[in-house]
Amino acid sequence: MSDKVVYMDNNATTRVAPEVLEVMLPYFSDLYGNPSSMHTFGGQVEIAISEAREKIANLIGASSDEIIFTSCGTESDSTAIFSALQAYPEKRHIVTTRVEHPAVKNLCENIDKITGHKHKVTSLPVDREGMLDLQRYEESLTDDTAIVSVMWANNETGVVFPVAEMAAIAKSRGILFHTDAVQAVGKIPIDLNVTSSVDFLSISGHKLHASKGIGVLYVRRGTPYAPFLIGGHQEHGRRGGTENVASIVGLGKACELAGERMEEENTRVKALRDKLEKGLLDSISHSMLNGHKTERIPNTTSVSFESVEGEAILLHLDRFGICASSGSACTSGSLEPSHVLRAMGVPFTAAHGSIRFSLSVYNVEEEVDYILEKLPSIIQNLRDLSPFWKGNHSGAVGSSQCKCSC
Ligand SMILES: *Cc1c(COP(=O)(O)O)cnc(C)c1O
Repeated sequence: MSDKVVYMDNNATTRVAPEVLEVMLPYFSDLYGNPSSMHTFGGQVEIAISEAREKIANLIGASSDEIIFTSCGTESDSTAIFSALQAYPEKRHIVTTRVEHPAVKNLCENIDKITGHKHKVTSLPVDREGMLDLQRYEESLTDDTAIVSVMWANNETGVVFPVAEMAAIAKSRGILFHTDAVQAVGKIPIDLNVTSSVDFLSISGHKLHASKGIGVLYVRRGTPYAPFLIGGHQEHGRRGGTENVASIVGLGKACELAGERMEEENTRVKALRDKLEKGLLDSISHSMLNGHKTERIPNTTSVSFESVEGEAILLHLDRFGICASSGSACTSGSLEPSHVLRAMGVPFTAAHGSIRFSLSVYNVEEEVDYILEKLPSIIQNLRDLSPFWKGNHSGAVGSSQCKCSC
């Protein structure tokens, strides 16, 4: 591997911002008190947690008493959905989408097994651009619907759903609304004072330059709520377990920074993303964008290259120190492209060769140029070796079967 690392996999995880690490460090050394203790030594830690809670609330237009600390985005998603099912035990219908993160998707798919009760789960389809049909959504809601869980922004394509509108529709029907906003928070402005129909919202620290293992569940004041982790009185009895103090303090700082850098994210980072995307689409034939062109978070692009294998592209990029993700899952022993691209109806041969680049404020233009210099020849070389590509594009015998070797 090359010494140089060009990190464009920020939807998978982000680097901890140096400013974030700096505020975390004292809580691993001198400030080790338990925030629940009666003494001043622990009490000062409780104060730091309150300040962090305030900063997180500020970023999303919430009040600090609406912020519950969890261990990750996944726990936040589970807490919201189980909470709603417990609040309305007579209601047995969940509405979600086909493109959710596994944290929601796998929970909803297995909800009967987990709860021991029969549920109906409606997973709304998306169109070719990854967008939902709002009329179809509205028609899916019934008197039996306990909760709607729809992500704010998609981790694979970056597509942004009209969450405010969808939440308002749910509210008008008296249905609780949860949004997995893990990929949206810090990238696009969110103001829950204005988007006033969202009841639950999930955040994950490591997706916005805080550490791994810290999450937040926003619960609107007055929303029926049942804890997922039951234990001590922490978080006012809403989530048991001694607080992950250092990570909480770090997340507070990360949210403050995200607020300050939102403008840069939506101008400079977006321009880099657009340059990369346009450069790839222009210089590589039979390539296409996955997902809506404008209804998107500013840092993400998912591009498909016909008749090449995403995993192979990643391995070649890796040799140049370039970190990205693929939308296929060959490593897991399956030839199936991602559920997101499948739901969008991306043709098999294209979905299989999809690559996601996700940028951050730490990326610079030279890195985009570097990828634009390396990737076209990687694709060309792989295509030269591909019997499927030859079959389709140079007159040789082809077949509609995937010929990848994984
Ligand atoms: C990463 C991610 C999660 C899971 O967050 P963790 O903190 O890793 O559990 C959930 N939803 C989306 C959209 C994500 O991108």
